[in-house]
Amino acid sequence: MTTATQPTGQRPRVVIVGSGFGGLFAAQRLKRAPVDVTLIGKTTHHLFQPLLYQVATGILSEGEIAPATREILKSQDNARVVLGEVTAIDLNARTVTSTVLGRTTVHEYDELIVAAGAGQSYFGNDQFAEFAPGMKSIDDALELRGRIFGAFELAELATDPREIDRLLTFVVVGAGPTGVEMAGQIAELARRTLRKDFREIDPTSARVILLDAAPQVLPPFGELGHKAHKQLNEIGVEVQLGAMVTDVDADGLVVKDADGHERRINAATKIWAAGVQASPLGKLLGDQSGAAVDRAGRISVQPDLTLPGHPEVHVVGDMMSLNRLPGVAQVAIQGGRFAADAIKQRIAGRPTKPEFHYFDKGSMATISRFHAVADIGKLKFSGFIAWVLWLVVHLMYIVGFKSRITTVLHWVVSFLGRGRSQRTTTQQQVYGRLALEQLGSHFEASKTGGQQDERVPVDATGRESA
Ligand SMILES: Cc1cc2nc3c(=O)[nH]c(=O)nc-3n(C[C@H](O)[C@H](O)[C@H](O)COP(=O)(O)OP(=O)(O)OC[C@H]3O[C@@H](n4cnc5c(N)ncnc54)[C@H](O)[C@@H]3O)c2cc1C
Repeated sequence: MTTATQPTGQRPRVVIVGSGFGGLFAAQRLKRAPVDVTLIGKTTHHLFQPLLYQVATGILSEGEIAPATREILKSQDNARVVLGEVTAIDLNARTVTSTVLGRTTVHEYDELIVAAGAGQSYFGNDQFAEFAPGMKSIDDALELRGRIFGAFELAELATDPREIDRLLTFVVVGAGPTGVEMAGQIAELARRTLRKDFREIDPTSARVILLDAAPQVLPPFGELGHKAHKQLNEIGVEVQLGAMVTDVDADGLVVKDADGHERRINAATKIWAAGVQASPLGKLLGDQSGAAVDRAGRISVQPDLTLPGHPEVHVVGDMMSLNRLPGVAQVAIQGGRFAADAIKQRIAGRPTKPEFHYFDKGSMATISRFHAVADIGKLKFSGFIAWVLWLVVHLMYIVGFKSRITTVLHWVVSFLGRGRSQRTTTQQQVYGRLALEQLGSHFEASKTGGQQDERVPVDATGRESA
């Protein structure tokens, strides 16, 4: 238990890193607290990752699942939103350094909440990313949208049957919830939405393969995983289990089966939905605090989500490791709120709770329209009931009334009808990431004339610190 650090003459400064589930819910929980909150995010939006696959497959627009963080917090007077990628945290000096387009800013803090989440892991094969994008950001989803719809376009023009087969083969790597949802949606896109849109090809003949090295679809769902597997087969998804990807290139991928046999699948579109790697900030904090960091980059936190010897630093969400808690939105939301409550208690001079207790509200995954699986405590649902539950829960957590209304409209278009309202793709979306990577990290800064600031205060009112 600790007491508050009260800077003389000003309110405690709370810096939050990340505008995802952990960071945003922590900031909102501090709404009425006598603190100045600075929320630093690498993007200008709060991303609802569970629906990224619907952006990738043309059901929803990116704005519906990624409202501006600034807009969400506009009526929270004690909160300031800052765009920037945090590149350094100094636990002794109590500063956080962020950079955007060449401008570097140093933020001082009294309390810090780090909720920088996780990125994609290619298990040491980062070269796969060029050919098999992951699904972690709006950029990823739009790139995949371009690649998926683009493959059908190119197939319409191709004349060699083998080339057409390659273009109409879609491989999703990873049979967790994201992979299952993605594979199911590509199958529905091909069989329902695009059915009559082409003249030379038959989109319903597209091959959608979901593969995983594990022996089961949705392993944590137990028996429901088998039901999901059956439903996937019914909508035409080929599920290949015990299949480990050993190589990926522009034309396809190489897979090693459980019996050691290697084979090649020719596929133009590959999607990586396997493995996560926590933000590198985990290692940075581990090096300074002595907290252990696991192979996935997650930092071990104390039972109260703080770092050893640093009760003023909380780490929450996907980048922390505690009692094998899963990397899901509820762990991040509840962790963010717990950290905010601890800060409020300390400031009020009251004891903080010694342990974070996670309340598991269950997990769900959709397979296709009208089909989902839901595992809620002792209750297990599959099929239509699970799908309705899935719709309601996801709608509840989408931020903003406007987004909820338009999401429902787009769901009506896609699930009751056959259409998809968001099929627009651009060349930039498909090639932008690769082009920027080739241009190098100095390119963006060189276009903006970015500058460096000596020191900028963390104060919602813009007040300067000494
Ligand atoms: C495709 C997909 C589907 C999912 N589906 C589900 C689901 O159905 N149900 C479920 O419960 N969970 C799901 N999850 C997991 C869930 O989204 C995460 O567990 C949750 O987002 C974790 O919250 P977080 O705050 O830790 O991280 P995030 O929500 O990832 O937020 C991290 C934030 O930190 C920012 N950031 C990162 N690095 C820096 C930096 N250096 N400087 C500044 N800002 C930084 C990011 O831009 C982001 O705003 C899914 C995840 C994905 C990717």
